[in-house]
Amino acid sequence: PPAIRSFAPCHRCGMENRWNEDQAAHFPTALAQRVYTSRLQGADPSLVLHGGGNTSVKVTEPNVFGVDEEILYVKGSGWDIATIEAAGFAPCRMEHLLKLAQLDRLSDTDMARELQLSLKNPAAPAPSVEAILHAILPHPFVDHTHADAIVTLTNSIHGERLVREVFGADEMIVVPYVMPGFRLVRAIAALLETQITPRTIGLILMNHGIFTFGPTAKTSYDRMIEAVAKAEAFREARGAGRLVEAPQEKGTSREAIRGLPTLRRAVSDAAGFPMIVS
Ligand code: ZN
Repeated sequence: PPAIRSFAPCHRCGMENRWNEDQAAHFPTALAQRVYTSRLQGADPSLVLHGGGNTSVKVTEPNVFGVDEEILYVKGSGWDIATIEAAGFAPCRMEHLLKLAQLDRLSDTDMARELQLSLKNPAAPAPSVEAILHAILPHPFVDHTHADAIVTLTNSIHGERLVREVFGADEMIVVPYVMPGFRLVRAIAALLETQITPRTIGLILMNHGIFTFGPTAKTSYDRMIEAVAKAEAFREARGAGRLVEAPQEKGTSREAIRGLPTLRRAVSDAAGFPMIVS
């Protein structure tokens, strides 16, 4: 078996690979491995602090008629990735999802209904709205986060140039911003057709986040950690400030209140239009 990886966080950026062979051995099946690395991802606040993330695995298993079907197990809504169980993954029929991905358009309402209809088990949680995206990525395991270090790059001025500086030419496919929904599925499907190579390990979605994928749960997770660590190292090399966690208490100290107008002003100036701070 491969050597147990060190638990020590990267001394430069603090990014930590939490994979542990002994723990992983308690998760024998593909879905169980999916549960394990989803929890590892959920345990890292710098990966999932804002807006969580979602994960999936594609498996082939027999249906009630004994016929093999390809099923996408994708994170279901209402489940926290940090504590997710196998029951928290929605089993969607790949055939249905891939057919949907071929449509020219699909409204949000129709997409939500079709995702429900793709389920192998009607009692399962509703699939993530990003389920079709997971389906069209041509690898068994897919990890998706809105990691701070990545969105710091993508949301910067000249973000796309910075992203291309950090990642090798065909390592990551860069996806221009499209609002999440069916149009994003179509945009990514088109890019995959022309840009994916055997060296591609993920996608960077401008102003949104990152997907990584791979043949095993560990590969996909390792790629997520390495990509985020790369983005962090780049930020540091450029002298960007360290990301600090916001204080947990929700008090309204005098200084905090006095700081708000200044912050609102700075954010509005950067955005180029008025913003509200709450
Ligand atoms: Zn997302």
